[in-house]
Amino acid sequence: MIKYFFTTTQDKNIAFHVNDDISDVKQNRLNLSANYGINIDNLRYMNQVHGCNIEVVTKQSEVCLDKCDALITNESNTPLMVMVADCIPILLYDEKKSVISVVHAGRNGTFLSIVEKTVLKMHEVFNCKVENITVVLGPSIQKCCYEVSVEMANTVKSKFGEEYTNDRLIDLQGINKKQLLDLGILSKNIDISHVCTKCSNENYYSYRLNNNCGRFAGIISLP
Ligand SMILES: [Zn+2]
Repeated sequence: MIKYFFTTTQDKNIAFHVNDDISDVKQNRLNLSANYGINIDNLRYMNQVHGCNIEVVTKQSEVCLDKCDALITNESNTPLMVMVADCIPILLYDEKKSVISVVHAGRNGTFLSIVEKTVLKMHEVFNCKVENITVVLGPSIQKCCYEVSVEMANTVKSKFGEEYTNDRLIDLQGINKKQLLDLGILSKNIDISHVCTKCSNENYYSYRLNNNCGRFAGIISLP
């Protein structure tokens, strides 16, 4: 069985790049292997840069893949991780081909269609079929709270459609969903968390609530 989950603030900060003690973060990551049963020794993660580079992970890949915002693998027992606080952590999998993927989709990544490019790469490299791909969008800042400048809201309106804006509020989840549906991903295979990291008061970090916060993670692993 493919295993996936999103960590919470109870799992504490998972990222090295925020203002946190390195040994504490290492311990927090180790705890994930006990609490969620993943092989932390084989974990791969990214130096995320809000771009749209996508890397294919093999057993030989570096532990931290530099300057990319999506990972794909068909390697068994090799968990992939994306770290966020408001951006959308997206997990994808094709059980038929045993291929998994993580995507970091903030505003930039979404504008660059990173989730769409990741699906296309899953097809190109591993011959995944869109009808077999399931996509999970984790807790992230939602249209209730994601306020941007007037200019940015207008950009969203003209690039994606009026339905993705409400004055200066934008709907990143909706835009990602549209990109997936346009590719042929089945609606029933798209699962979007309704938890807004900023206003839900649930256990997830929100950068807009506290820009000194940690990061939580979306992790997926093949058996
Ligand atoms: Zn909200």
